[in-house]
Amino acid sequence: MRIVLLGAPGAGKGTQCKRLLAAYTLVHLSSGDILRQERSEGSDLGKKAQGYMDSGGLVPDELIVEMMVKAIEDLATDGFVLDGFPRTVNQGAELDAALAASGKALDVVLNLEVRDDVIYDRMSGRRSCPKCGAVYHLISLKPQVEGICDHDGEGLIQRRDDQLEVVEKRMETYHQQTKPVVEYYQNSAVRVFDVQANGDAETVHAEIREILARMSDSQTV
Ligand code: AMP
Repeated sequence: MRIVLLGAPGAGKGTQCKRLLAAYTLVHLSSGDILRQERSEGSDLGKKAQGYMDSGGLVPDELIVEMMVKAIEDLATDGFVLDGFPRTVNQGAELDAALAASGKALDVVLNLEVRDDVIYDRMSGRRSCPKCGAVYHLISLKPQVEGICDHDGEGLIQRRDDQLEVVEKRMETYHQQTKPVVEYYQNSAVRVFDVQANGDAETVHAEIREILARMSDSQTV
């Protein structure tokens, strides 16, 4: 199955992707995670991306498209879920062209819909492990020991791009550049489903499973 998961920053895309991996044979490709990895390795791409990421803007399309198309081509399996990409209409069109050239097409686009006030609450309380990338929340997803990652004992941090002024910029970028991607897919041959994602992760996951099951039943996937 080839899935694109759309939604604002903080909509829960990463969390839902991880749950999908437990249920389906898929590889999770997160453009944000790949960029953070490039940065921690100090690669050329990481250095180029740094300023855009820290300010809440988007990394230029040509860098992102090349990076993600290569990541898809390098996959050993056929199934993937894309998280954080495409984020502009142009990225969507470039992705379509690359997939068409390799004879693959997307099966479904899932659009996580979350109110802006819920996003702000989620993101202001988000804490991350700088070592393994695990994500926690001050209220809804606490680590076993306050401020410490459960997996590797590293001290948790608030990512620069989860700080309020950057979140505001990221939301502006989302409304201006990424929301039109939903419309782009609605006007394409790919099926698009809106998923109400204001609630807890389990409920959202159940709704996604139901959508994918209905698609399988109708032999679309
Ligand atoms: P994320 O973790 O997905 O919110 O991504 C973190 C940051 O990486 C974003 O705020 C952007 O600066 C950059 N980024 C991630 N994916 C993309 C993309 N598809 N296009 C442009 N910039 C991206």
